Amino acid sequence: MINKTAMISIIGRANVGKSTLTNKLTGDKVAIVSPKPQTTRNRIYGVFSYRETQMILLDTPGFHKPKTRLGDYMVKIVKDSVADVDAVVLMIEPVDNIGIQEAALIDHINQSGVPYVLVINKIDKIRQDFALPIIERYSQRFGFDAIVPVSAKKGDGLSALLETLDKYAKPGPQLFPDGMTTDQPEKQVIAEIIREKLLICLDKEIPHGTAVEITSFSERGEDDNVIIDVDATIYCEKSSHKGMIIGKNGAMLKKIGQYAREDIERFMGAKVFLQTWVKVKENWRDSNTIMKNFGYF
Ligand code: GDP
Ligand code: MG
Repeated sequence: MINKTAMISIIGRANVGKSTLTNKLTGDKVAIVSPKPQTTRNRIYGVFSYRETQMILLDTPGFHKPKTRLGDYMVKIVKDSVADVDAVVLMIEPVDNIGIQEAALIDHINQSGVPYVLVINKIDKIRQDFALPIIERYSQRFGFDAIVPVSAKKGDGLSALLETLDKYAKPGPQLFPDGMTTDQPEKQVIAEIIREKLLICLDKEIPHGTAVEITSFSERGEDDNVIIDVDATIYCEKSSHKGMIIGKNGAMLKKIGQYAREDIERFMGAKVFLQTWVKVKENWRDSNTIMKNFGYF
């Protein structure tokens, strides 16, 4: 029986593995993951139960210096997400010098008075004894409640992490219904899956200037034979980018669509027909109106 909830923010710089951990613990692909920084743009809830607790993880965009309006927005999300939570997880990679950004984040958390846990991720990449000096360095300088080394990708250390996080649970009713793994509407998850494939398939700066809008979403058929039709428009910032997204004879767009469709089918548990279009919208990342249209406010 669920009789407690624990609301936990995961913060840290881009690419440390926050979304990977969120997905691993919820058992669903609620947040997209890519080797490129700044993949996650919104704050996303990942929901699952552990013993008598409903755990609500807040996956956040990585902390970084704002360059565009979209960047400002992401920094604001991080600051907001240390308010009103039961604990904060600061995630780092296993490097043994304390980053300026991490130190600034910890100062900010300290002011808010909320307990914080250090999670050292990607320990599969280092020798086990290499984690010790990192743990020592961080615990000497800051007042972490706990320090937990994990590999979000391989699943190592996660039971210790869950046990730690459960300590912050507060008595209260179940906030999300059984089986619900995220607060994101299905359309949003689908748009994000397509954006993940853009990040994975395309070079450097192009995917960061893209946004995906689901323009039509409908279901037909019944029970085991449901088919979902999805129309998606990919916006990019330059016509040269449009050419690269479409590719020679449409090959790139076809590949992106195919990868996305497979993931969307898994997420929806149904057959999916996906149609994609590409449009140019210059400088959308600096326009509040356009950002609002894409659901970023
Ligand atoms: P985020 O920006 O903090 O949300 O990071 P992501 O979850 O998007 O992950 C960034 C990259 O790190 C991806 O390529 C992940 O596959 C990789 N990654 C995440 N966790 C681990 C881990 O435990 N071990 C290793 N080796 N790679 C990881
Ligand atoms: Mg992320």
